[in-house]
Amino acid sequence: MHHTQVTLLGTKGGPAIRPGTRMPTSLLIQMDGMTVLVDAGLGVSRALCDAGMALTDLDAILITHLHSDHYLELGPLLHTAWTAGLNTPIAIYGPEGLTQYWDSFLQAMSFDIELRLRDEGRPALAPLAQIHVLNTGDMALGSLQVKVMRNTHPPIIDSFALRIEGQEHSVVLSGDTAPMEEMVSFAQGADLLVHEAMLSAGIDALCARVGNGDDRLRLHLERSHTPAAEAGRIAKDAGVARLALNHLVPCDDPDFTEAHWQEETRCTWDGPLFIGTDGMTISL
Ligand SMILES: [Zn+2]
Ligand SMILES: [Zn+2]
Repeated sequence: MHHTQVTLLGTKGGPAIRPGTRMPTSLLIQMDGMTVLVDAGLGVSRALCDAGMALTDLDAILITHLHSDHYLELGPLLHTAWTAGLNTPIAIYGPEGLTQYWDSFLQAMSFDIELRLRDEGRPALAPLAQIHVLNTGDMALGSLQVKVMRNTHPPIIDSFALRIEGQEHSVVLSGDTAPMEEMVSFAQGADLLVHEAMLSAGIDALCARVGNGDDRLRLHLERSHTPAAEAGRIAKDAGVARLALNHLVPCDDPDFTEAHWQEETRCTWDGPLFIGTDGMTISL
């Protein structure tokens, strides 16, 4: 039997970082001998190393949607894995548009990449990323089965929740989404639901502090993300064994602490609860 665990590498919702904040979104699933990275937000390369992973050990990468806090560091991660000795292709699944990102990244770094090919005898970098378009439905990922469901994250249409199943365990990731009833059946009976969450009480303070947006930021948050109490209700209705909250909004306001997250989520969920922090490992 293989050890199954999920490591939350970055648990902050949104792209901006400030002194003392968590890092944007990425997480690692180790299940049935497979090592799968989901999302590649800023800081993912460092976080993988801090979690004890060699960058060359990834079997696959899934990108849930093309907001920068979920893929800004994908190119730098692959480039750094390449300089760390990567020489077998990694399967990457993401929305349409990811290929353009990768091609443009290679273009942007062409001076360095061509230099390293010539000067250090590295293998070609481009073919090490085998990019596929992520679609709704079922797909095999090595020894794992992955179910893909479109979630509710306007204005982005190609945004996905994932259910990853091995021989004995299942993990469901909500992705960035407003609460959706379909998540209840999608997550039914999972060993772990990792759901995005925002703290209702913290949204006013967040909007006041950001300073360079307008009401559209609040509207975006309210129609595209999930209050923590709703994440708890979905977990309860789905009968999952454990709930972890990630993509926390806000998570860099000292007025709001773990206790506030606990309080809001405990209104609806009384099972095992993990308020995500960067580097947190959850064993199944
Ligand atoms: Zn996000
Ligand atoms: Zn998003």
